[in-house]
Amino acid sequence: MAAPDLRCRACGEETVTGPTYPPRCRCGGLWEAVDAGRYLDGLPAAPPTPLWEDRELPGRWKREDLSRTGSFKDRGAEVLVRVAAQAGARRAVLDSSGSAALAGAAAAAEAGIALTVHVPASVPTEKRSTLVLFGARVVAEGTRADAAKRALGEATEAFYLSHVHHPAFMAGTSRLAGEILGQLRGRPPATWVMPVGNGSLFLGLDAGLRAAGVSGIRFLAVQATACPGLRAPGNAGTTAAAGIAIADPPRREEILQALSRRDGEVLEVSEAEIDRARDHLWRRGAAVERASAAALAGMWRLPERERADVLAVLTGSGHRGGG
Ligand SMILES: [Zn+2]
Repeated sequence: MAAPDLRCRACGEETVTGPTYPPRCRCGGLWEAVDAGRYLDGLPAAPPTPLWEDRELPGRWKREDLSRTGSFKDRGAEVLVRVAAQAGARRAVLDSSGSAALAGAAAAAEAGIALTVHVPASVPTEKRSTLVLFGARVVAEGTRADAAKRALGEATEAFYLSHVHHPAFMAGTSRLAGEILGQLRGRPPATWVMPVGNGSLFLGLDAGLRAAGVSGIRFLAVQATACPGLRAPGNAGTTAAAGIAIADPPRREEILQALSRRDGEVLEVSEAEIDRARDHLWRRGAAVERASAAALAGMWRLPERERADVLAVLTGSGHRGGG
């Protein structure tokens, strides 16, 4: 039997990722990696996304919107699907209609893993068709919560390709930190700004910097005022920035701990500020979704003198529809 790779954050129980894994520990706790580096063993570096500077924008911008399916989630999905394949999984399941589904569907297609994607009935036909083109089976019924319930129900028979539940996803996003450090030749800006929903980018970058032994970088987590999942979880307001519309992030405590360790804070921005930032970025040729533009809205909140020494992450493309 393989050595345990998953450890419960709450009670310390350990288990092994097989063709399936329990999405949570028996105590209800979420998993962390016993050794995240193991998930990356022998994995070649992904083609880097550009680091962008623009005369009408402060700071530097990491263009994750230009990755394979148009979001940073490709990094997580690639590693998670690799772990699934190595564990012998032939089938996988996920519940999402956004970036996580596209990234998961592309990676699963490449690995030859049969994927079922559960989405709510309200998901537009166009989005479903994209997933079908990747070979996924799409079940569109009920609400978002119904879709999540169906996926969890199937997780006893199929590998749960969840960007929240399996730490291999965060191991994948952690590689972004090393890539940024390499592109900046080890001289990273003092402040990193990023939109935060479930935190799979935020936690990955934090882990990646720790693994690289880099300290002293401050993180700013940008959220929509309408959906302040970090400050006021459960407050299910609606924001057009779908990628960060997470009312109750399961890894909230973990995100807040990392934020406090990094001397950071949460910046909440209005829908009008997000729209203005989105329009500004498109007019500079960066076609990003609203959740990405939230990073610029957050940066505009900083005092002018601080803005030059900032790195911001453009997390997702706006070409894919849906905000
Ligand atoms: Zn536990």
